[in-house]
Amino acid sequence: MNCRHCQNPLTYTFLDLGFAPPSNAYLTGDDLKRPEKYFPLKIQVCHHCWLVQTEDYAAADELFTEDYAYFSSASSSWLNHARCYAEEMIARLDLNTNSHVIEIASNDGYLLKNFVAAGIPCLGIEPTASTAAAAENMGIPVVREFFGEALARQLAAQGQQADLIAGNNVYAHVPDINDFTRGLKVLLKPEGTLTLEFPHLLHLIGKNQFDTVYHEHFSYLSLYTVSRIFQMAGLRVYHVEELSTHGGSLRVYGCHQDNIRPVTAAVADILAQEQNAGLQTLDTYIHFQPRAERIKDDLLQFLIQAKRDGKKIAAYGAAAKGNTLLNYAGIKPDLLPLIADAAPSKQGKYMPGSHIPILPPQRIREFKPDYLLILPWNIADEVMQQNSFIREWGGQFVMAVPELCIR
Ligand SMILES: [Zn+2]
Repeated sequence: MNCRHCQNPLTYTFLDLGFAPPSNAYLTGDDLKRPEKYFPLKIQVCHHCWLVQTEDYAAADELFTEDYAYFSSASSSWLNHARCYAEEMIARLDLNTNSHVIEIASNDGYLLKNFVAAGIPCLGIEPTASTAAAAENMGIPVVREFFGEALARQLAAQGQQADLIAGNNVYAHVPDINDFTRGLKVLLKPEGTLTLEFPHLLHLIGKNQFDTVYHEHFSYLSLYTVSRIFQMAGLRVYHVEELSTHGGSLRVYGCHQDNIRPVTAAVADILAQEQNAGLQTLDTYIHFQPRAERIKDDLLQFLIQAKRDGKKIAAYGAAAKGNTLLNYAGIKPDLLPLIADAAPSKQGKYMPGSHIPILPPQRIREFKPDYLLILPWNIADEVMQQNSFIREWGGQFVMAVPELCIR
C-alpha cells in the first residue's frame, strides 16, 4: 500500500490492534444469534510525509453500510463548542448577511443553526439522510452528498463559494484526504478562510491514546503533515489553535496560498512542539506498540484480580474508544458485565465484539459496583461528577488511559 497523501510505499507499522468489528456497529439481541464481521485494525506511518493512516483491506466498503447515525446535538458539550465557534468566527472574520458559510459534514445542523440565527446564509454538506433531514427542518439548506473535488466544482459553478468553510471533526475521517483538500481549495472564495478541527497526533502519542484508533478514523494528523497536504492543494495554514476536545485537538485556519494574510506565531510554536516530540522521527512511531500493550496488560490484570477478589465492576460510556480498548484486550461480560450509557439509542443493545450489554445509567445505583471503569477518558471529570454517588458504598473510579489509575 502507498501513502494516501504522497504515494510513498508504506513499510512501517505504527500500531497493530488485531481484528475488530466496526466501532459503531452496536448489536441487538437478534444480532447476537448471527455471525459478526471483523476487519483488520492496523495503522501505518509514512516515513516521507509522516501521515499516520489506517491500512487498506479488502471489503472495506462493508464497514460503512451501518445505518447507525450519530446526532451531534445529543451532546451538550459539543453544542456549546459549536456555539462558541460560530460566535468567534462571526467576530474574527466579520461575517454578515452578505457572507456565505459552508460546513462539511454538517450532521443535524448543530453548528450551522448558530449562523442561521445570526442571519448569515449557509449551506450544509451531509450524506447521512436522517441527520440531513433534521438540519433541513431547522431551515438549513443541505446538499446530501459526500464532499470532494467533484462536488466542490459543481457548487462553485453554481456560485456557491464560501467566505468560511467549517470542517469540525471530519478531516480525520476522510478516506481520500488529497481529493477532499482540493475540494476545499475549489470551494473557498479568494479571501475566504477554512477551519478544520481534528485530534492532534501529538497527544495520541504523548498520552497513549491508542484507543482513539478505529476503522472510520483514516488519518491521525499533525500540523506538519496537514501543512504539507494543504501546500499540495494550493492552500496554506495561517493560524492554529489548541482545543481540549477529544483529548487534545487542533483547529487549523487555512487560506489560499497566494493570500496575503500573515502567518501567526502559533503555527511555528506548534510545529516546534511536534518536532521536539519526535513526530518527524521514525523511532517515535515504531516504539509506540509496546505502550498500547502495557495499557492492555495492566487493565486485564486489574480486572482479573478484582474478579478474583469478589469485586463488582461496571463501565461507563459505550463510545468508539471503549470498543477499541475492549476488543483489543479481549474483554467480555465475564470480566465486565455491564456498560452504562446515557444515549437511549444505545441502551438495550450490546457492544460490538465484546457483546457487553449497554444499560441506562440508573442501573449503576442498583448494581452498586466497587469499580466504575470510565471508557471515554476525555469526559472523565464529567462522568465522575455525575456518578459521585458510588462513593456512598465505597465505589472507586478506574481509568485505563494514559495509564491505569484508580481514584
Ligand atoms: Zn506520505
